[in-house]
Formats: sequence, C-alpha cells, structure tokens
Amino acid sequence: MSGPSRDKQAGLLLDEPLIFERNRPGQMGVDVAEVEADGLLPAELERAELEGMPEVSEPEVVRHFLRLSQWNLSAATTFYPLGSCTMKYNPIANEAAARMPGFAGLHPMTPDGLAQGALELMAELQDMLAEISGMDAVSLQPAAGAQGELAGMKMIRAYHEDRGDPRRRVLIPASAHGTNPASAALCGYEVAQLDGNAQGVVEPDAVRRAMSSEVAALMITNPNTLGIFEREIAQVAEIVHQQGGLVYLDGANLNALMGVAKPGHIGADVLHFNLHKTFSTPHGGGGPGAGPVGVRQVLADYLPNPRIVRRDDAWAWSSDAPKSIGRVRSFFGNFGMFVRAYAFIKALGGDGLTRATQMAVLNANYVRARLQDTYHLAVPGLCMHECVLTDRNLEGTGIKTLDVAKRLLDYGFYAPTIYFPLVVSGALMIEPTESESLETLDEFIAAMEAIAVEAAEDPDAIHAAPVRTPVGRLDEAKAARKPVLRWRADDSAGG
Ligand SMILES: *Cc1c(COP(=O)(O)O)cnc(C)c1O
Repeated sequence: MSGPSRDKQAGLLLDEPLIFERNRPGQMGVDVAEVEADGLLPAELERAELEGMPEVSEPEVVRHFLRLSQWNLSAATTFYPLGSCTMKYNPIANEAAARMPGFAGLHPMTPDGLAQGALELMAELQDMLAEISGMDAVSLQPAAGAQGELAGMKMIRAYHEDRGDPRRRVLIPASAHGTNPASAALCGYEVAQLDGNAQGVVEPDAVRRAMSSEVAALMITNPNTLGIFEREIAQVAEIVHQQGGLVYLDGANLNALMGVAKPGHIGADVLHFNLHKTFSTPHGGGGPGAGPVGVRQVLADYLPNPRIVRRDDAWAWSSDAPKSIGRVRSFFGNFGMFVRAYAFIKALGGDGLTRATQMAVLNANYVRARLQDTYHLAVPGLCMHECVLTDRNLEGTGIKTLDVAKRLLDYGFYAPTIYFPLVVSGALMIEPTESESLETLDEFIAAMEAIAVEAAEDPDAIHAAPVRTPVGRLDEAKAARKPVLRWRADDSAGG
C-alpha cells in the first residue's frame, strides 16, 4: 500500500492517511513475547493471522492519532466565537480536579457511605447553581441543555396534569433555539410562535394576545439569541402566571447574567444550565455535556429522582418523592463535569463570576462597535454577551455569510455561528466570551475587515476558501447525504 501522500503538505500542515494505509507488513507496535497457546483456547478460536489489521510501529501509531487530534479545533487552539455556544476556555485546573483518583475512579454503584465526598460536591454544586440563578432547588441529572429542557417541560406537564388542568400549548419566540420547540413537542405540546418586535424582543402585548387558559408555558431565552436582554421579562412572566401558565427560561445564555441578574427573581419557574457553556466544562467533541435544571418551589416536587438528601448526618440518595418525573439519565448525570464546574465556580467566587459576565459583555460590545459599520448589525444598540452581524453590507459583491465564515478559517479563526437565529437573514453570530484578550479580539476584527476588503476587490479568492485547511470547501448538501469518510489528499481536488 502507498505511504502518506506529501502533495498537500505545506510546511508542517501535516497530511495524514488512514491507519490502514500506513500498513507495513512486519511492523509492530508492541513486541509481545511468544505465548505457548496450545490448549488455552478451543482450536476453532485460535487464529494464525489477524487479517485486515494494520501493522504499524508504535511511533507511527502515536503520530497518526496525534495528527488527527491536531485537526480538531477548540478554544484551546484558536479563537472560537461560535455564538450561543459559549466556547470559553476550559481551565486546566478543572481537569486536574476531575482526574483526582477519588473522583475519576469512583464507581457509580459505590454505596452512599463510601461516596460522601462526591455526594457533598454535588449537593454544594446544586446550592451554588440555585444561588446563581435565584431558583429554589436544582437537579444535576440531565446530560445536556436539550435534556434539561425536556426534563423541565415534563415537570411543567406533570404540574398541570396534577391540577386536573392539562393544557396543550406552549408559546415560543421566533428567535428561539431549535431545541425549545423540539422539547415542547416531545412532551406532547403544540407550539405557538411568538414574533418579536423590530429589536427581536418579546412585547407584553404579544404575550397577552397569545395567552389563554390552554397555554401551559412560555419558553423564553434571556438574553435572547440576538444577544438582546428581554427587558419586559418580569411583566411578560406576570401575564403568563396570571392565566395559570408557567415560565421556562432557557438558561443557555447565563453567561450574560451570572452574578448580575437572577432568572428566579424575574419570573422564571424553571430553567436549565449548560455547564459546558457557562461553567467552562468541555464542549462538543471534548466531553459529554451537563444540563442541570433549577426550579422554583412550585415545581420542586416534580424534580427528577433520585435526589441528594441529608439523612442521619450523612449524604444519601433518595427516591422518596412520589410526584417526581422520575429518572432522566442513568445514574446521577455526568459527574466528571460536576467536578469541573464546581472547580470553576470555587476558583472564581461570586465576584469572579460577576467579573466574567462583565468581561463577556464588554468583549461582545467591543467586537460589535468595531465591526458594525463594516458589516451590518442585526439589532442596533448595545448587545449582551454576543452580537449578531449580517452580510447585508456585502450585497453586490457576491460574497455571503457562508463565504465569510469559510474565509475566516484561512485567517486562523474558527467561524462564528452562521444563519442563526433564523429571524435574521445571513446572520453571523459572534460570542467572544470573557476568555479572550484585547489583542485576540483585534486580530479577529482585522481578519473580518480584511475579508470585507477582499469581498470588494477579489471575491473569487473568498469563493475558493478555505484554502489553508486539510479539506477545502465542501458541497455541504452532498457531504451530509453522501459522506466520504475516507479522505486522501489526491482526491480532495474539487471537495
Ligand atoms: C446550546 C443551546 C441549547 C441546547 O443546549 P445543549 O447543551 O447543546 O443541548 C438550548 N438553547 C440555547 C439558546 C442554546 O444556545
């Protein structure tokens, strides 16, 4: 078989074939001593040859996987302004804490009496999240924001059914994340869309018109996905409550509120946290998520089981809550993420969390102020932790949001979220988070400005982008429908 292709290499931008293509018969990773296997296994299970397995030396195996890992981008490798996703830096100290043998090696079926430290950490994390959000009780169990939404909507459903008033509709603003209507629909609700005003904000009058005794809940994101604070949230919540409905607050944007405003004090009855966004635990390919739910007293009976309780001066698990929606996740959730989030909150403290929020909002507004003339700003005025630009000012150049995103990769930046929220045409949603320095923001802004100049002077260069990545521009529809997972530099021409 042929060795690694060198055509595509530019300096140390390393090409990497499949491990099977590194196969050199006779190469070996580990030198295993000959074993006298006679009689150890039934004859039919003994194999003279391991057919189809690559034969590769240990250094080549290490290089293979290390190179593949280097094709991953993350907040540890580059600025990663993926709006709504809060790709903040994941502190190394969190990793050290999560790898402590007492945490990392703990079996989920360890008896409560031998897992007191882990239980106490979880109980404390619940309390800290309740304090940050102004909610009365928290369950850490859901494995992601979307699952937290599902758990929250199930609690809302159980609450209404319990009162003999099963309602059938949920109100959701047009700017919502797609998981909101999906979670409501999974709970059997019909979704009614609420249109925002010109600033994308939900107005009390719109809620008043849509509200009825058939509405179980309003699901609202604050700040909304345009990065704008829903100023009327308290009044909106009151309108919903007056007609017996509940308010679900999508807490994914807590990075704009933490330490400054508490959702529980502005009308939310239930919310989810994304530990992998706000509380710095790894995100995407880097680790599982964690989407704890917090509730006000009105929903406390319905929280998932089991719950952590204090019994005979010790921590214990209890499922003694008959109205609970039950279990939503095996065991107790993604425990390693709890350790990381706990470490993050403890390291920053209350003042540090407030400062993180302020820096996140300041960074987003710096990017907004510097780019709002070059690009077009979806909603004029101040933003919260993210700003939404559009490709409107590029009209006539043939360059669109997708092209800008692809070209950014050539400049060494991960692309912002694009074409979301759906209510903005050609959206480029930029969320720098508090992690970034002024120098990094300036470099990013310079790249965005350079792309705008290229769009006017040399649009073809952008249409071809990215040209400095291992794989060039893909046909996105084809890549989704007919994925070619076996990639070779030779056949990459044309995508
Ligand atoms: C990320 C996000 C979600 C879903 O959270 P996951 O943890 O990805 O499941 C929901 N709503 C908003 C606004 C989000 O940004």
